[in-house]
Amino acid sequence: MEFFLDVDGVILDFETSFIDFVRDQYLPDLPADYVPQSWEMANEFKDLDIVEVWGSFVDSDRFARLDLLIEAESFNRLSKQYAVYLITNLPVSQYNNRKKNLDLHQLVYRELTLAGHFNFGDESYPSKSAAIEKLHYNGERIVFLDDHPANCRDVKTAFSDSEVYLMSRPHNLGIRDEGWIRVEHWDDFMERVLSR
Ligand SMILES: [Mg+2]
Repeated sequence: MEFFLDVDGVILDFETSFIDFVRDQYLPDLPADYVPQSWEMANEFKDLDIVEVWGSFVDSDRFARLDLLIEAESFNRLSKQYAVYLITNLPVSQYNNRKKNLDLHQLVYRELTLAGHFNFGDESYPSKSAAIEKLHYNGERIVFLDDHPANCRDVKTAFSDSEVYLMSRPHNLGIRDEGWIRVEHWDDFMERVLSR
């Protein structure tokens, strides 16, 4: 079994830090318990120049200190037993910050790769299935986990035998499930994968 795991919304809590940043820097009246309902922050905050806000957030020191959504011990138990690859959808310029953030939580994994459905204007930016194609050891069972339906669809289409899991998040609750298995949190994912 080989694991290909998304990072934002699965391992690291991008949303909470981002929303806190938006509140501190732009929208002081944003409620403390505010939960974004859309993956597209441009839809979420129509009055803000979201490209600029996102840019200043990822350049801030907060971005390399996102909190964990999971237990590091549970993650490291998995990576001790299986090949675990992390595939994160960030621009090249943020690769080192992302690595630092994962190191901060002492997560152990094989490799961190940049790929995903959003290409940041770079036509050569790989999809997640293209990244897996390069990393995958033939014959191994592919297990993929992501909170974005587009990435789940991409991987299930490219590897029909793979096990694809969608992490339930507020922004994907309205999405109809396709060829993936929806999981509610990390422990739910672990139980389902390891019991198959
Ligand atoms: Mg994600």
